[in-house]
Amino acid sequence: MKRWRFLLGFGSETGQSKAIAQGMGDIASEQHQICADIFELDEVDKQFKLEEESIMVIVTSSTGDGEPPGNASKFWRKIRREKNSKLLSHMKYTVLGLGDTNYSTFCNCGRVLDRRFEELGATRFYPSAWADDAVGLDLTIEPWLQGFWPALKETLTKLNTSTETSINNLTESINQLNLTQEIKPTVNRQLSSSNKFKSNQDNITYSSNLSEMTTLTLPPKSTHSLSIKLIESSEVKDHLPTDPHYHVSTLIRRECLTHDTAIKPVMSIELEPSEEEFLFEVGDAIKIVCANDENEVNLLLKRLEWMDRASHQLDICISPDNTKKSAKIPTYIPSMCSLRYALTNCIDIRSSPRKNLLRLFVDCTTDEDEKRRLEELCSREGSDIYIKYILEEHLSILDILNHFPSCKPDIAMLIEFLPPLIPRFYSICSSPLDDVRSIKFVYSVLKFDALNGRTYERFGVCTNWLNKITIGTKILIQTRISQHFRLPLTLDTPLIMIGPGTGVAPFIGFLEHLYLSSKSIAGFDVNNLHTWLFYGCRHRQHDFLFEEQIQMYQQINVLKHLFVAASREEDYPFRYVQDQIKANGHELANLIYNRNAIIYVCGDIKTMVRDVRETIAHILKENSDITNIDEYMKSLETSRRYLLDIWS
Ligand code: FAD
Repeated sequence: MKRWRFLLGFGSETGQSKAIAQGMGDIASEQHQICADIFELDEVDKQFKLEEESIMVIVTSSTGDGEPPGNASKFWRKIRREKNSKLLSHMKYTVLGLGDTNYSTFCNCGRVLDRRFEELGATRFYPSAWADDAVGLDLTIEPWLQGFWPALKETLTKLNTSTETSINNLTESINQLNLTQEIKPTVNRQLSSSNKFKSNQDNITYSSNLSEMTTLTLPPKSTHSLSIKLIESSEVKDHLPTDPHYHVSTLIRRECLTHDTAIKPVMSIELEPSEEEFLFEVGDAIKIVCANDENEVNLLLKRLEWMDRASHQLDICISPDNTKKSAKIPTYIPSMCSLRYALTNCIDIRSSPRKNLLRLFVDCTTDEDEKRRLEELCSREGSDIYIKYILEEHLSILDILNHFPSCKPDIAMLIEFLPPLIPRFYSICSSPLDDVRSIKFVYSVLKFDALNGRTYERFGVCTNWLNKITIGTKILIQTRISQHFRLPLTLDTPLIMIGPGTGVAPFIGFLEHLYLSSKSIAGFDVNNLHTWLFYGCRHRQHDFLFEEQIQMYQQINVLKHLFVAASREEDYPFRYVQDQIKANGHELANLIYNRNAIIYVCGDIKTMVRDVRETIAHILKENSDITNIDEYMKSLETSRRYLLDIWS
């Protein structure tokens, strides 16, 4: 059986690709008796050697500007630089890329690796796929996985046939693997005639087209690999989360940057790192370790009737009857902590439950109608409703439990199947030239109403936490070094900075850096600068961030041109930054086409990033003799003259 293995490499920034790879690894061993060796892509040459691998599957996301995630950058460089076009000619591969179509570099990391593998001689054994977070990753991943397993088995079979494995053994193995038939557990439970979930309208608890369906195809039931107990203990002392990869900092200032009447308040934060050697540059972002809301944790503890055990110590070990190859005690939960601590600091209790968890919930639910509806939501037939009512509405685990009151999952299930709470990124808006012991950033306060299946009002996890912590609180931070979002080396390169809302943050850092450089570097003359800032807000009187600072930079000639858009001001002609870009199209096109300007775009992606790109393409088309504008835009990106620092 040793031969039935493949290499599963993942590149993950937020943990999503890792979770998907681990899920695939579990399915491989539990349902197909195939061993998946799962490694971070950067473990290349340490844990695995490309020359020795026959089958490789890559699951990877991309970061904002199409770069690889942090744990895939070494692999990325290695593959891109490789000159030997036969290096991978022995290898079969496929790629599952995760991305977001709001980014013009959608799935760039996966796509580039896919192309390079082909160029280096590898053969795709199954079509690569690009899952889009803008519409729901599962929309692509689910059907892709359905075809993936048979293709993998077929490839393994062929590989084994061509080696010395005896045909008899092989046939036996294939029979065991049930090559052609996927495991399709089905159920026959229907909603009872007294169905309390019946309603006139489709919603999270009812869908007319599914309620009559007698047979549903459910995901296979995941097995537990962890054994989790709660021990009454007086020894457990919860403390500040620790992680050797992070630095400790102190919250020293928090201010509201917007007027009381602003629709979306924006706050600014200043942190003081404890260590001198905390390094950052303008253009970098900072990673913040945050915590879940205390009230939300209490609601969850109450709903699960665990309140009286909240301070008990968690004892986590690998279950004696575990069969999962990827089973590991989660490193993100300290060995000595309370249940409350784990739910507050370690686990993403806000995440929408994946289908495998909903499937497990079915067995912890006593009410027949609730069971049936949970089955519908996790079934293949219910994919659309799962996306529509759970993923798109961002229902949390607590929302689901509130909708299904007879569902009583145990602690182990939630701890094992919910993802870790991940740190959040913020673009740094200060320069180390000002003070290396001061890091500033800004954030929008996010609020989500109790609507469309959400059973309670909530705020963004990290931004809410940042709003609530007291001055003096210790915060774990890490620099996220920007690969390309940097000031150019030459002063006279025109800079076109486009940053609506909090997207202005890195440009405040840039301008401050230029200003301080002009004061400290001999020969640095601000008159040589060509700095253009396109800023957008809702209402200039209410939420013009950094207004005074920006005006000061204008007065002292560090900022040469400022263009402001205001989306909620009647009679103001420029609603969005792209309106201002269009209005200045002639000059901007000249700067880009004739003077090698660098364009920086920063902010919340939604529609802005795509619209800005289209507008830039439009003004270039109108004001130059470029014939193939798509090619030209791509060349701007590849030559790092169109740079993005964006988030959703
Ligand atoms: P979360 O709890 O994570 O919730 C926000 C998320 O919930 C959104 O991503 C959205 O997908 C989702 N959501 C949407 N609608 C709903 C709903 N109805 N109910 C529940 N959830 C919903 N942000 C800034 O403000 N300033 C910055 O300078 C900044 N810089 C960044 C730089 C980088 C490189 C990156 C990757 C991100 C940056 N962000 C910035 C975004 C920031 O990291 C966080 O995503 C943001 O602050 C929200 O975090 P949160 O924990 O408060 O919200």
